Amino acid sequence: MTMTPNSSTQPKTDLLALTLPQLQQWLKERGEAPFRAKQLFNWLYRQLENDFSAMSNLPLSLRERLAEEACIGPTIIRSELHSKDDRTRKILLELSDGKLVESVLMLYPPIGDSSSRATVCVSSQAGCAYGCTFCATGQMGFDRHLSAGEIVAQVLFFARELRKEPWTAAGLPGTAAIDHITNIVLMGMGEPLHNYTNVLQALRILNSSDGFNLGARHMTVSTVGLVPAIRKLSQENLQVNLAISLHAPTDELRSQTMPVNRKYPLSELMAACKDYIASTRRQVTFEYVLLSGVNDTMEYGQKLAELLAPLKQFAHVNCIPVNVTTASYQTPGPDAIRAFRNILFEHGISNSVRAERGDDIAAACGQLRTRFENSRKKTELPVVTP
Ligand code: SF4
Repeated sequence: MTMTPNSSTQPKTDLLALTLPQLQQWLKERGEAPFRAKQLFNWLYRQLENDFSAMSNLPLSLRERLAEEACIGPTIIRSELHSKDDRTRKILLELSDGKLVESVLMLYPPIGDSSSRATVCVSSQAGCAYGCTFCATGQMGFDRHLSAGEIVAQVLFFARELRKEPWTAAGLPGTAAIDHITNIVLMGMGEPLHNYTNVLQALRILNSSDGFNLGARHMTVSTVGLVPAIRKLSQENLQVNLAISLHAPTDELRSQTMPVNRKYPLSELMAACKDYIASTRRQVTFEYVLLSGVNDTMEYGQKLAELLAPLKQFAHVNCIPVNVTTASYQTPGPDAIRAFRNILFEHGISNSVRAERGDDIAAACGQLRTRFENSRKKTELPVVTP
């Protein structure tokens, strides 16, 4: 449970870190009836209220006590940026100890039969211990794990924004406006499975049918490949999607950009994925950042197809042309991307290409914080509170 200090030096309890049974217990310890927990959960996750004084069906005495002893996540937004097309929005959230993390909202208009989507890309740690060379967060080093409440708060921030002002794709008149979050991906700052307990707690809170009620199948946990944690996840009774940041099909190449590969080489990672599929019968997505001339050659395409062939239809490759602003890598051209994907198709490996988003607002993880901290050295930016 996250505590933040209040004016009377008593630590405040972050209610967003509590499941419904934990909230019931917390209220019980304060002499309150357990049914108040459901009312409070409703205010937090259905009404999306973040002001105790507005929770009109709670007695005034309880509202005052909540204001004194509890809080509703971190609320300081240091920076908020919208891409020119308003399909990507990014916030820099300041935590109670001054650490900064980024969250991104990605908005997708309807395609064919599928409806609009609003996906929040959530951070799970301040900084990261895994040091992938193509990642701005990886260059910062590790600060600390985020609490469950700090993870949940990122989702609620954008949920409130969409509730207040539903989004419709510009240039697509007649499409229904979207006013709620449809998906969560743990692909922001940090390695989610390194912060296993808090991440799982946050997902269970957001999944609760008494509260936010987001289906587990709409949640994706992305990992660099922490083998023991993947095995543990396969035993959880939670149908979340698993994505592996693969990015190279050989140990030699993968270890150059992803130091974690030296600890958990591809043979162990693939064995864990195979067992994960056997236990869950769920498809696993393999994220593959295409670095021109580095891992996108025909030879590596062939090796990738061979690596994933044993997983058959349970493997899907998400090809991501590198965002050139993140490091000294080059984005491959459309012909190279097509040729790479064709090799995978020829081997029966389903794949897609993720469109680049939000370049104009530094959407790749860690970039906004890096820019912010550089500029803060020169001048203090204004604080925005929602
Ligand atoms: S890609 Fe993920 S695991 Fe690797 S350094 Fe960046 S945040 Fe950490």
